[in-house]
Amino acid sequence: MKIHGVSKSFGQLKVLDNIRLDIKAGSVTAILGPSGSGKSTLLRTINHLERVDDGFVTVDGELVGYRKSGRTLYELKEKDILKRRAEVGMVFQSFNLFPHLTVLENIIEAPVSLKRLSRPEAINLARDLLARVGLGDKINTYPRQLSGGQQQRVAIARALALRPKVLLFDEPTSALDPELVGEVLDVIKELARSGTTLIIVTHEIGFAREVADTVIFMDAGKIIETGSPDQILNRPANTRTAEFLAKVL
Ligand code: ATP
Ligand code: MG
Repeated sequence: MKIHGVSKSFGQLKVLDNIRLDIKAGSVTAILGPSGSGKSTLLRTINHLERVDDGFVTVDGELVGYRKSGRTLYELKEKDILKRRAEVGMVFQSFNLFPHLTVLENIIEAPVSLKRLSRPEAINLARDLLARVGLGDKINTYPRQLSGGQQQRVAIARALALRPKVLLFDEPTSALDPELVGEVLDVIKELARSGTTLIIVTHEIGFAREVADTVIFMDAGKIIETGSPDQILNRPANTRTAEFLAKVL
């Protein structure tokens, strides 16, 4: 996946300033940065939940959504946008499960309604995915009957049901009680080992150190530094990175 010079402002505030990123298939990228630095907005632009002012995103060389350069806009057709968007999965801080649907129905909703899979195929896949996230016995449960960690694992299974090429996580454990963080990080670690391309906004520095291939530090809409966990977390070159780490470590 590649981000080609993406910029985005809200009014006068430049939230993303010419972001360029090249994410290798199968790699794990952790994004760190202070509150308000643009991390969530960056993930939302990758998934085209947010329109950009300039630049574009490609997955496997194929445009996602539209590309903009100055005033020139080239936009895919709505149905192609939906198709490409499904190639990028997203897991939010607050799970965002459908409360009135069971765990099974939450997982099969998108692949069935997008006609990716027949209902029986989707149910089989949901069973596999739930076993993978350790929730094989919760298939007919409603979200409110689950702990936060379990709900987040269902949300991960739901994102995987569309077989995305890239999976985005926006602070997937920050809404959880401390004792539930580990079970969600373990599922993400397993995805990392199995070669899923992951981009994770996180404040879990230890997790980033252990799992990420690349760590990115953002501040004020810019990528300040990119490197291996050792480079960024142990020997940051930029003083802003060092100051941030001193606060969170
Ligand atoms: P946090 O760590 O607190 O989640 P973040 O790095 O994810 O922060 P963003 O949510 O991307 O930061 O927000 C970046 C900036 O853009 C912030 O100043 C925020 O107030 C602003 N912003 C985000 N969304 C909107 C919006 N829809 N309208 C106006 N301003 C917005
Ligand atoms: Mg955020």
